[in-house]
Amino acid sequence: MGKRIMIVDDSRAQAFQVKGLLEDTDYEVAACCQTGEEALAEYSVIQPDLITMDIIMPGMDGLETAQAILEGHPEAKIVMISSLDYEDTRKEASDIGAKAFLNKPFTRDDLISTLDRVMNE
Ligand SMILES: [Mg+2]
Repeated sequence: MGKRIMIVDDSRAQAFQVKGLLEDTDYEVAACCQTGEEALAEYSVIQPDLITMDIIMPGMDGLETAQAILEGHPEAKIVMISSLDYEDTRKEASDIGAKAFLNKPFTRDDLISTLDRVMNE
C-alpha cells in the first residue's frame, strides 16, 4: 500500500508541484493543508505516514507547526521543504525534530530519495 503524505504549504502551486512529482510513486497525497493551524487540526484525523512542511506561511509558520505536531505526536515524520537554506534554519528544524530538510528548488529524485530515507529510518 502507498505511503500517505500530508502536504502543508500556503502556496497551492507548490503543493500541486509536489503532488505531481509524487504521481506514479509509492507515495499517495492524503491531504493538502494551506495553513499550519489546519495541519495541526488535521494531523490526527488524516494520520499521514509523512508530512512535507513549507516554512514561510501566514499565521503559524512551518517550524512552529512542526514543533506543535511533534509535541502531540513525537512519532510524526516531518520533512521541511523551503528556500530558507540557512544553517540556523536547518539547525532549528533539526532541533525541533524534523527528519529532513529539502531545499527549493529540488528534483523529483531529490524528493523521492529524501522521503525514502525518512520512511526507512
Ligand atoms: Mg510558503
